Amino acid sequence: MKIRIQDLELRKQEFELAFQPGEIDFGVDVRQVGALRTEGHAELIREHHGGQHTVDDIRLIGKLEGRISLCCARCLETVEIPLSRSFDLLYRPLEKERGADEVAIHEADTEIGFYSGDGMELEDSLREQVLLAVPIKALCQPDCKGLCPVCGANRNQQACACNSGPSDPRWAALGDLKKKLQ
Ligand SMILES: [Zn+2]
Ligand SMILES: [Zn+2]
Repeated sequence: MKIRIQDLELRKQEFELAFQPGEIDFGVDVRQVGALRTEGHAELIREHHGGQHTVDDIRLIGKLEGRISLCCARCLETVEIPLSRSFDLLYRPLEKERGADEVAIHEADTEIGFYSGDGMELEDSLREQVLLAVPIKALCQPDCKGLCPVCGANRNQQACACNSGPSDPRWAALGDLKKKLQ
């Protein structure tokens, strides 16, 4: 959905939308599961900087809800994560940020982004919000045992017979026995 400054000059733009998987590209690691729902509104914030000089900001307020899936960082099984996030974002025109009268950015509760031209795409903002909500390391369960580095077996599903090194006390005991036999 395109958000245009010229539309916002007349009135704020309400939205209530559902995006199906594939409509927004989240890259190769993140997959959307089911509909991604969002509702909120965009409004124009006109900053006055003395005289005729104004800066048109777009404020985007709303929430999103959906589910995504990604790979467990240890065993690579699929992990589904529910998303529920509210946002309050401010977009400044990119051109106005350059130059001598650069606007100081001090808003505490608002995140600042930039738009160029006559407006912005809501989808771009949603993509950003979803990716911000994705954990850096997702685990299928807090104590996921991961994959065996030797045979690649998923240790959550099967115990394999590989030597997992001296950290395992059972193998340490066998090692001691071997030394005694030599
Ligand atoms: Zn796992
Ligand atoms: Zn193994």
